[in-house]
Amino acid sequence: MSSNKIILTGDRPTGRLHIGHYVGSLRRRVELQNAGDYEKMFVFIADAQALTDNVDNPEKVRQNVIEVALDYLACGLDPERVTLFIQSQIPELCELAFYFMNMVTVSRLQRNPTVKTEIGMRGFESSIPVGFFTYPVSQAADITAFRANTVPAGEDQKPMIEQATEIVRRFNHIYGDTLVEPSIMLPDNAACMRLPGTDGKAKMSKSLGNCIYLSETADEMAKKVKTMYTDPTHLAVSDPGHVEGNTVFTYLDAFCTDDHFARYWPDYANLDECKAHYMRGGLGDVKCKKFLEKVLNETLEPIRARRLELQKDIPAIYEILRRGSEAAREVAADTLADVRRAMKINYFDDAELIAEQVARFAQ
Ligand code: ATP
Ligand code: MG
Repeated sequence: MSSNKIILTGDRPTGRLHIGHYVGSLRRRVELQNAGDYEKMFVFIADAQALTDNVDNPEKVRQNVIEVALDYLACGLDPERVTLFIQSQIPELCELAFYFMNMVTVSRLQRNPTVKTEIGMRGFESSIPVGFFTYPVSQAADITAFRANTVPAGEDQKPMIEQATEIVRRFNHIYGDTLVEPSIMLPDNAACMRLPGTDGKAKMSKSLGNCIYLSETADEMAKKVKTMYTDPTHLAVSDPGHVEGNTVFTYLDAFCTDDHFARYWPDYANLDECKAHYMRGGLGDVKCKKFLEKVLNETLEPIRARRLELQKDIPAIYEILRRGSEAAREVAADTLADVRRAMKINYFDDAELIAEQVARFAQ
């Protein structure tokens, strides 16, 4: 199968990737890649964006570039089929972002709900770095420079894609049809849109320290699952329990299939039956957590094993990123040539302009 999808997604190198990334976006990318359901696919490590709120910690960003690359490859992204690149290596993206800055107002950026939440999370209320404040604009440049029309991402990215779409419309309105409008491809399951943290907080996030990492060992993961947030009112096994807002069940919603029940917990045919028992009372958290651990292990074990293999040849990983960055730069440069032409700042490739000026001054 092939289609006209041009897919682009990225992750900030602020830590190793976690199961929230996996269900929110990474799993979808690998499925799309394997189905061949696209014309081109770009996946990038957003180091320049990570620096917008880590300006004094460049080492953190530098160390995590390779961690994210290892996670990508371990999850099955294939550099033969997908262009993997590092954002900062494509200077065209800065250029495009600079032009886009004029197409967005400060108040529009202030209304971006994701930016609002993130400003709170980072304690930036009284002094927001300009780069952080404007990162949605730079993200619009990342997407449009590759003419991406499809962005598989979690729900937190919705306002970013809306902002990018507005910028594209404004640009095309002023300068003529040049750029492509993107759309977000959200996970089809509500639990995956915004996977909560192991502490039950709204979002699993590298910056909140409530993550299960893809590269976690089985033991480390088991410990985290054991202490996960469940239902605080479910004190005795016989008590009726709540599955709404219960992180164990949210993770099961995101990961488990009927096959998992057949293999590991044949007492139930599917998650609905298991939930019904929990809500009636008589099903304890420990059993549910043991099952979740098996389900997660089945998904993560092959990823861990591949990562260990990949770690044996680190220079090869940097070489993949170098080659991908070169290829990506060519694509972005091509779009930027169109942008400069549309914006009438292509002075030296425009023979007509020179002839026109000759005529003007000859009068
Ligand atoms: P940071 O805290 O540094 O912002 P993050 O954990 O939020 O890191 P990002 O790199 O900002 O991760 O997000 C990369 C991609 O993963 C985005 O598409 C985002 O929607 C998705 N994503 C991140 N966290 C989750 C989550 N908890 N549930 C679903 N999708 C997520
Ligand atoms: Mg984030």
